[in-house]
Amino acid sequence: MTDLQAIVDSVYSDLASRIGEGKLADYIPELARVDPGQFGIALVTTDGRVHTAGDAETSFSIQSISKVFTLTLALGKIGDGLWKRVGREPSGNTFNSIVQLEQEKGKPRNPFINAGAIAVADVVLAGHLPKEAIGEIVQFIRHLADDESIAIDHNVARSETQTGYRNVALANFMKSFRNLDHPVEHVLGVYFHHCAIAMSCRQLARSGLYLASAGRNPLNGGSVVSASRARRINALMLMCGHYDGSGDFAYRVGLPGKSGVGGGILAIAPGKASIAVWSPGLNEVGNSQLGSAALELLAQRTGWSVFGQ
Ligand code: GLU
Repeated sequence: MTDLQAIVDSVYSDLASRIGEGKLADYIPELARVDPGQFGIALVTTDGRVHTAGDAETSFSIQSISKVFTLTLALGKIGDGLWKRVGREPSGNTFNSIVQLEQEKGKPRNPFINAGAIAVADVVLAGHLPKEAIGEIVQFIRHLADDESIAIDHNVARSETQTGYRNVALANFMKSFRNLDHPVEHVLGVYFHHCAIAMSCRQLARSGLYLASAGRNPLNGGSVVSASRARRINALMLMCGHYDGSGDFAYRVGLPGKSGVGGGILAIAPGKASIAVWSPGLNEVGNSQLGSAALELLAQRTGWSVFGQ
């Protein structure tokens, strides 16, 4: 049997000398202030074994990784109707790009770029006050992680709200094409708050486990989504989860994954494990430099790439 703890330890120690590489996100002070000298790995297998290394218990801003969970909620609410509002194609553009929105008449390319996630937030908001929708998202993630301590970092949410001019532009642009049902301020309130959820690698890996287990939570047997929906969310993560570095991540790692500008990445090895890595320094397209390297080594050493050995 593969010694997963030995693999996790070897990935950590082989990269330890590179901790601090990359550039911190600096669009808000809370992210620019994070200590770059941190690196954590957590891997949770579908039978519940947990393997960690480094700063796996330290909370960080999950940012765009939250878009996996809001997508799951929105699909639960309106099913495939979501695809009338948001596309399923890689964007090949930066995460906050507005160009394609004009070309595609206000329909974002996919649910993981900012515009797409804002449209998804609009769907989650239906029938709720913004506060209730935010509460529903946090509750869902707590349920997935089986951890009531998960919460929003309100300083991050406030800064996002104060400086999110580009997101305000994207939302207004979509609204002009009637692709948002609710007031722009309400939709962005939901979006900024779910991006500001803070979690550790261990909590994040645990909460992604349903995507590695055909939609079920293998640790309590509960069904989160159907197997086919889990498979499709994984497909979207593989194609669109790393901004305009998605092709490179698929080439190097070969696992569905979603990154965030806080330096975290959630990766799914279907049938095997859910993996979270975190190191705040980012590469030129905004993905964790060390986190990507860690997943590349991990995929090589486990043979878990979905494309084979
Ligand atoms: N809150 C960030 C934004 O909307 C999310 C960035 C990210 O992680 O991709 O710009």
